[in-house]
Amino acid sequence: MATKSDYYEILGVAKDASADEIKKIYRKLALQYHPDRNKEAGAEEKFKEISEAYAVLSDPEKRAQYDRFGHAGIDGQYTAEDIFRGADFGGFGDIFEMFFGGGRRGPSGPMRGSDLHYDLYVTFEEAAFGVRKDIDIPRTERCSACSGSGAKQGTTPKRCPTCGGTGQVRTTRTTFGMQFVSTTPCSTCHGRGQIIEFPCPVCGGSGRVRNRKKITINVPAGADSGLRLRLSGEGDEGDPGAPAGDLYITLHVMEHRYFKRVDYDVISELSISFPQAALGDDVMVETLYGNVKMNIPPGTQTHSVFRLKDKGIQHLHGRGKGDQLVRVIIKTPTKLSHEQKELLQQFESLSGGRKPGEGAKGKEEKGEAGKSKKGKGFFDKVKDAFEG
Ligand SMILES: [Zn+2]
Ligand SMILES: [Zn+2]
Repeated sequence: MATKSDYYEILGVAKDASADEIKKIYRKLALQYHPDRNKEAGAEEKFKEISEAYAVLSDPEKRAQYDRFGHAGIDGQYTAEDIFRGADFGGFGDIFEMFFGGGRRGPSGPMRGSDLHYDLYVTFEEAAFGVRKDIDIPRTERCSACSGSGAKQGTTPKRCPTCGGTGQVRTTRTTFGMQFVSTTPCSTCHGRGQIIEFPCPVCGGSGRVRNRKKITINVPAGADSGLRLRLSGEGDEGDPGAPAGDLYITLHVMEHRYFKRVDYDVISELSISFPQAALGDDVMVETLYGNVKMNIPPGTQTHSVFRLKDKGIQHLHGRGKGDQLVRVIIKTPTKLSHEQKELLQQFESLSGGRKPGEGAKGKEEKGEAGKSKKGKGFFDKVKDAFEG
């Protein structure tokens, strides 16, 4: 990644700019570069950049961190990718709502339904392989008794006499000899254009009722914690004639008793005995795809890492898999039988180390006993003693 530009420079503000100044500048730049308005090449990039700068500088805590430590202070907390991920899910709408008030609500239109948020918990395996989950969410739905019109069965809403059904009223104002025409929502019908004379008894005229709805969520294979899924139109029902909100699912992957995940690789640890490490052995390793045989070569050191190709997690929306990385831990026995103790003492003396009872003399000498014929027989005895 290229070196990041300074956030103050991106927005073109002084280091000591007030929160208000920053907001004002950002509003101007956001309008200028918003991808919905500006189709020029590079506008989207620029918008992303200024949004990221604003996200940090508008947050007093993050701004303070940024001032002290620069990009390193806020790295990994708030990236353009986060903002863009949000943007794909209507984040731009939020930005406009924030500045211009009710971006979702047209100048006169009925109100869109609220967005809903749901935290979905899945197991490690479910995230790795993908899963379908049925969730039950409380939400506002269209009233079935009146089909969402809000009018009692057999009656129909009346056209609003004030606005003639448009939901808007125009007012003309003259200032300094200039005529200004503005349009505001009709206050009689609250912008709906209709008046309900006989409200539906089930929903009281709102056209909506509270309900619980079962929704099936498809968690894609390779998904990880923090993934956000957006289900368009599955949020709360809007005003009659307005769209429903969206449902956002945030994924949480539960910890596994044995596996950890780093990107698409699965990390695990395996305990082996000292003789297994010294002599080598074939061991069974638990993977996401069942147990597989893995060879421990002779002379393996503790904390060595072995790679099991393609035993990791399926790439999200892509081909290929990660690997499983198995870290080997050599167990040092804590309780030794008499026989085991004797064998280890023999081993130590064969290695050119101290004899039983002698000091730690000659310890730096590397033992080759394991490679001699005599040693092999000895090690077999050791192995039997430790694995029995
Ligand atoms: Zn009206
Ligand atoms: Zn109703």
